[in-house]
Amino acid sequence: MFSLTNKTALIVGVANDQSVAWGCAKALAAQGATLAMTYLNDKAKAHVRPLAQDIGAELILPLDVSIPGQLESVFDQIDTHWGKLDILLHSIAFCPKGDLHGRVIDTSADGFAMAMDISVHSFLRMLCLAEPLMKNGGTCMTVSFYGSEKVVEHYNIMGPVKAALESVTRYAAAELGPKGIRVNALFPGPLSTRAASGIDHFDQLLAHAASHAPTGMLATIDDVGAYAAFLASDAARNVTGTVHPIDGGYQIIG
Ligand code: NAD
Repeated sequence: MFSLTNKTALIVGVANDQSVAWGCAKALAAQGATLAMTYLNDKAKAHVRPLAQDIGAELILPLDVSIPGQLESVFDQIDTHWGKLDILLHSIAFCPKGDLHGRVIDTSADGFAMAMDISVHSFLRMLCLAEPLMKNGGTCMTVSFYGSEKVVEHYNIMGPVKAALESVTRYAAAELGPKGIRVNALFPGPLSTRAASGIDHFDQLLAHAASHAPTGMLATIDDVGAYAAFLASDAARNVTGTVHPIDGGYQIIG
């Protein structure tokens, strides 16, 4: 029911073995998907390449979405190599430090534009490039966070950025649904990753989630991966346009 055999997947967002995208890559590969993985730059390549090789990724490509042409090149290489794409995972976010650590109302125009471009518009660009390769339908996923809905202390401008990401997920799902392409957002509870370490007092958020989640457990990247593998599978063929919490029930607690 959950087999991903004969499916090809592009995974964007692995920085190291703690990345949400790595949890997803492992789970998709374990269910039989053939993977392409990207790394941000030469420094990241040293961490990502051995991981990608461990799970037999067929393509390991550079991708900084802010460099013109790099995203197009990734999709060109997928077209040349596989001629199709079944699964896309967008698991990236960025905000310049000064804006991330300031009040939302003080966000600079440049910082806002950069955070929205890298964290949200890049997903739209990927969907556009994936569409012609998903000839027989497909599944696209991005990764959001609770700060989109609630005011989470220290999450700051990334809250509104994630709200936009969830909204584009719904619009894209409506636009691509008739082509059999599903678009969903994974919504993990807080996890200790490199991106999370840039958020002030993230340890307090982790402690709060662990003590308030009904399961009493923090989400792990393997929990997120298992859910992503289900969403990517044909078992989830009628699930689209939705934000999926994987957080031990944390978001239901007031
Ligand atoms: P991470 O640092 O492991 O991953 C972030 C990734 O973004 C990195 O691989 C980095 O290379 C990539 N990235 C940043 N700028 C980029 C650019 N210009 N081009 C291409 N890639 C770029 O951290 P993570 O926590 O795994 O983050 C992945 C996603 O999960 C993010 O969208 C994040 O907001 C989201 N998320 C994280 C948590 C958490 O608690 N860690 C919770 C919910 C959602």
